[in-house]
Amino acid sequence: MIIFGTRGVKSTMSEGHFNCPQCEIETPYRHRKVTRFFTLYFIPLIPLGKAGEFVECTSCKGTFIPKVIDYNKDKKSDAFLSEYEKAMKHSMVLIMLADGRIDEEEMLAVQKIINKYGHNDITLDELEVYVEEVQTKQEDISTYLRKVTPSLNEHGKEVIIKCALAVAASDGSIDKSEIYMIERMATAMEMSSTHLKGIMAEVNEKRQETFSSN
Ligand SMILES: [Zn+2]
Repeated sequence: MIIFGTRGVKSTMSEGHFNCPQCEIETPYRHRKVTRFFTLYFIPLIPLGKAGEFVECTSCKGTFIPKVIDYNKDKKSDAFLSEYEKAMKHSMVLIMLADGRIDEEEMLAVQKIINKYGHNDITLDELEVYVEEVQTKQEDISTYLRKVTPSLNEHGKEVIIKCALAVAASDGSIDKSEIYMIERMATAMEMSSTHLKGIMAEVNEKRQETFSSN
């Protein structure tokens, strides 16, 4: 009996580094192709043509369409700053500016939040440059928040509001101008005033707890 059939044989076309969508960091990749072979007794003999191409992350073993290599190269510089990061960064700076003063504590709090929730860490100097940019541009606090709202769940919205409250409280007190800004953030994210009040009460309680335990 003659046993014949076909089999896909993988080979590496090229290798390099890319921003793996799964690992979310730069990792080595292998650009691979699959060639279908005619086999005789399970031995690949005659190539029948290309069956497919894919990019494999050598770290997580995830496979992606070859376009992923270029896609991430283009995005690397500015667009890598996702809409979410942009919204977070922009609104935190506006909260900081709400009371008309910039305190060192506020700067540190904003930097900490940006670096915690974003993929692009910034230094205090970079933050200062950004603050000036925000001051000249005068964009409304809802500008970027509105864009991310459709992809945020309630928890995601709460995280942003809690961060804003942390920035507002970092100079020792949350004043009216800051609360007004936070209310506008909640509106931009289509959050109900009851929900917002709930978060504020929760944060307040925690602040008082820390205060009395000190
Ligand atoms: Zn990966």
